Amino acid sequence: MIVKNADLNGVISDIFIKDGIITDIVAVDKRSNIVDSENVFDAENKKVVPSFFNTHTHSAMTLLRGYADDMPLNPWLSEKIWPAEAKLVPEDVYWGTKLACLEMIKTGTTFFNDMYWCIDSIIKAATEMNMRLAVSATFIDIGKDTDKLIKELDDTYERVSAIDNPNIIFTIAPHAIYTVSEKMLKYSGKFAKDHDLFIHTHLSETKKEYDDCLRDHGMKPAFYLDSFGLLTEKTMLAHSVWLDDDEIKLIADRGATVSHNPISNMKLSVGKAFDYRKMKNANVRVTLGTDGCSSNNNLNMAESMKFASILQKFAYNDPALMSAEECFKIASFNGAEAFGIKAGKIEKGYDADFLVLKSNIYDMTPGFNVYSDIVYSVGNNFVDSVFCKGKLIMEHGKIEGEDEIISHAKKISKKFIS
Ligand SMILES: [Zn+2]
Repeated sequence: MIVKNADLNGVISDIFIKDGIITDIVAVDKRSNIVDSENVFDAENKKVVPSFFNTHTHSAMTLLRGYADDMPLNPWLSEKIWPAEAKLVPEDVYWGTKLACLEMIKTGTTFFNDMYWCIDSIIKAATEMNMRLAVSATFIDIGKDTDKLIKELDDTYERVSAIDNPNIIFTIAPHAIYTVSEKMLKYSGKFAKDHDLFIHTHLSETKKEYDDCLRDHGMKPAFYLDSFGLLTEKTMLAHSVWLDDDEIKLIADRGATVSHNPISNMKLSVGKAFDYRKMKNANVRVTLGTDGCSSNNNLNMAESMKFASILQKFAYNDPALMSAEECFKIASFNGAEAFGIKAGKIEKGYDADFLVLKSNIYDMTPGFNVYSDIVYSVGNNFVDSVFCKGKLIMEHGKIEGEDEIISHAKKISKKFIS
């Protein structure tokens, strides 16, 4: 595959791709022969940038978009979200995940780190949509039969690890330290170590979580998590807002990654801004997540980038904090790197995960700086075409099955109000 006439930072170039990897980049004025075959995509001098890696979401919650808003976190979860989720069957999760994939691809995301139930439905949906996926065995076991859950985890691992798809990463996802028992946290830490797995969990979203952990376990949340072997180089910590300096140092020492979810944090009013400067100074890898559609309410990484950058500037009174280019790297390169994926740069040897941007759209005009335009200006209609691991998964805004996905999602959503 060759993507010709791509505008890479102002240099019109041809991008050569083989087996999903960029094998060469040649400026058009140094082009030796004009290639013309069915394996050529003409970028028509449009800007080409790396795609986004969404490191924390609950994809099928697209079905609950707009269902419950403007409520405090605990009653929001217990009175609205959890009862609605109890009505979901695997087929619903399949369509909800398809809707999430549709939205993510349209807004430039090629990878998502998901935490939800009905793992087979999620895998089927993401595979059909040609996306990369980190999919988790997700569990909450407070008030449930932990031994049964352990058996299910073992079975799920056997089943999913047998799937032959390099675009799927299996992770273990204890939901949070306050929803998973000590027994299950201990088992999870050992399981992740034995099988060398990525770990995905929520950590320190609220002050209540911090205070309760200290009261109940005599330890701060990050130290409590670490006591089960759950803080490793392969751990992704969603939120990570209420952490003190010792915890940030511990996370850095363990080489774990955090997923910053600015819109969710602000919408659910977690009471404090994520401390990017401290994380950065401690050399913690920071990535970006949208969180689910119940607390965001979309999966548009460009919008999350704007909130991330502007929240830092506002909260810490420093307009230079988290520049557009730095924010873009957090949303692309850092997210890929956290999962061991060589992407997030358009260079020889990197995976071919990139976006061809629309030209002649008002919110990227006049077009002085592509990072500034994407982080601060664009809406949700700035991506022309998307490549994921060298495969063209959206061509000129079109994705197969779009209408069917939307009509199924609408039909399913009726069950929440009946
Ligand atoms: Zn979440």
